Amino acid sequence: MKVLVINAGSSSLKYQLMDPDTEEVFAKGLCERIGIDGRLTHKVPATDGKYEFEIAMPTHAEAIQAVLDALTSPEHGVIKSMDEIDAVGHRVVHGGEKFACSVKIDQAVMDALEECIPLAPLHNPANITGIRACQNVMPNVPMVGVFDTAFHQTMPAKSYIYALPYEYYENDKVRRYGFHGTSHKYVAGRAAAMLGCPIEELKIITCHLGNGSSVSAVDSGKSVDTSMGFTPLAGVPMGTRSGDLDAGILEYLMNKYGYDMKKMMNVLNKESGVLGISGVSSDFRDIETAAEQGNQRAALALEAFQYSVKKLVGAYAAAMGGVDAIVFTAGVGENDGNTRMAIASGLEFMGVKMDAQANNVRGKEAVISAADSKVKVLLIPTNEELMIARDTAEIVGK
Ligand code: AMP
Repeated sequence: MKVLVINAGSSSLKYQLMDPDTEEVFAKGLCERIGIDGRLTHKVPATDGKYEFEIAMPTHAEAIQAVLDALTSPEHGVIKSMDEIDAVGHRVVHGGEKFACSVKIDQAVMDALEECIPLAPLHNPANITGIRACQNVMPNVPMVGVFDTAFHQTMPAKSYIYALPYEYYENDKVRRYGFHGTSHKYVAGRAAAMLGCPIEELKIITCHLGNGSSVSAVDSGKSVDTSMGFTPLAGVPMGTRSGDLDAGILEYLMNKYGYDMKKMMNVLNKESGVLGISGVSSDFRDIETAAEQGNQRAALALEAFQYSVKKLVGAYAAAMGGVDAIVFTAGVGENDGNTRMAIASGLEFMGVKMDAQANNVRGKEAVISAADSKVKVLLIPTNEELMIARDTAEIVGK
């Protein structure tokens, strides 16, 4: 089966054509600068081919058409015609409380996605546009929506409720939703496979640490708590996002500097996190380099990030009454041994013992705790596209 996975952002669109059973990726790529001019990077793993094109993309429709043209091109294509695409799986950021699992997209689902726009005004419109663009050029191909929030819908009320007047939950759906669900679910499943233990018997803490970061408590395969909240701004400090803070700071800064809410949110989303603390960069590699050269704010940014993740590991172990495995994934989690070590060291009191040599690894599945560590620490590269393709194949196959 060939599944096209689409991840549409506001001005970009990532794609992968893959077989979810064999996990073979036939082609993948990225459309950028949609609505500005348009650039397509198309890769064919089997031949190591990389092709770049300037193609006018006034809207997502032209971007999707460019992707289909690339996939079927006689020179660098991987299929003869669009008919070989059996299904399309779309990443959707916010499914609200409506979607606790992936669903086949029909008009009712599209209506529900529209209803979720106020919950994710930056992301969901792009996802919806991507779906519509695909429907227009592939009207007969079944499509599935896979939600970043779905995996966390198993959280109990005590985890997702905010201590606000209850009406804001009842009337306005203000609650913790959590994000990166597809990634947390994937790595938790892989952790169980690596440990050779049914996921139903495991308590796992998954640390998705990238430009955006979140930590989840996964008990018996179900998300029971997660650090992102009503929006992906909450939790640990991120590349440019503040993570959790005292809401009183907003009033203080807005009054002092005459900021309106838009400006304030821009500070929290775009100017904060490790960029804000370090003043150097949002990229962890740049910050580490600066810290090594003696930049104290860069060092502080790393420390604050690591400390924040470490605290959540402790909190989620307490929440679950123990932990069997801690998983690191995403850009920082997969590549940055120093950060993994800083987070997982000092936790010997709760049975975590790292192996420095085993931790000296990047981007591949590995056990990085010592052989006698009661809690296993794992590095697992995430694969959200595979998860989306699998869900799509399963739902379309039903
Ligand atoms: P992601 O959002 O998952 O793509 O992760 C992006 C983040 O991963 C960026 O901040 C990168 O700096 C970080 N990253 C990638 N490789 C490394 C590395 N070798 N060491 C530290 N951070 C890295």
